[in-house]
Amino acid sequence: MKDYLVRGLVESKNCRVFACQTTHLLEIARQKHQLWPTASAALGRMMSATLMMGAMNKNHEKMTITINGGGHIGTMIASTHSDGKIKAFVANPQVHYTYNETGKLAVGVAVGNEGTLQVIKDMGLKEPFVGTVPLQTGEIGEDFSYYFMVSEQIPSVVSVGVLVNDTNEILSSGGFIIQLLPDATEEDIQYIEEKMSHFPAVSSLIYDEHTPEDVLKMIFDDVEILESQDLSFECDCSRDKMKSALITVGKQEIEAMIQEDHGCEMKCQFCNEKYTFSEEELTELLEHM
Ligand SMILES: [Zn+2]
Repeated sequence: MKDYLVRGLVESKNCRVFACQTTHLLEIARQKHQLWPTASAALGRMMSATLMMGAMNKNHEKMTITINGGGHIGTMIASTHSDGKIKAFVANPQVHYTYNETGKLAVGVAVGNEGTLQVIKDMGLKEPFVGTVPLQTGEIGEDFSYYFMVSEQIPSVVSVGVLVNDTNEILSSGGFIIQLLPDATEEDIQYIEEKMSHFPAVSSLIYDEHTPEDVLKMIFDDVEILESQDLSFECDCSRDKMKSALITVGKQEIEAMIQEDHGCEMKCQFCNEKYTFSEEELTELLEHM
């Protein structure tokens, strides 16, 4: 089954909804970054939430989300042009914690909760939109929910999850978001709260081959699906972009690379792709600076 997300509307309950499946793109990210299970869970949850947020941006703004909670995993960054393609990384991919009581992956411990979640939306205007909120638990879902409430004043349920097997492969990844529209009533809120109080883990539903549409229909039997979008892990790095980045390190640094290392290797942090530049290429670059 391919990765995709759906956007829908529930008129009877005055809310808009999103659901996605991101199992394959997380498996690709896991292989590129050699993620350990708890890091996979953290990045998978973050990518699902980011992709669904992207589906809220009608003008396909470039959106970059940074989470840093002071935990062992370090900074996490996910970036999308709100077109279903995402690139993302964590500073320390070799992180693995589980909760003693349940054996579940301890995402909140790995991420930490002494920090912030920051959203930057670049709308092509002079000043990009920047929204920053303190992390609540580091479990990602609650943190996005808090962001929507505080930064965008939209009460939201954010549920994201990941299942990993014994050999660290991704079994399932995905989630859903429910957002109340301004006309929502106390009854609508009660209906959603009641449903959520005993709703199964979204990662288990996806593992059991329920589609994003199925998940939404389990919550709202009259949900109207408006749109679907394919999702993928895709980096937009290139030799040319790396060259431009190289220019910014300055003449002296490049001279040192030529003299001491006779070339250089640069790695894209989002996808781990390596780019090597020979002594001749660096010399040519210097001449054009
Ligand atoms: Zn890249």
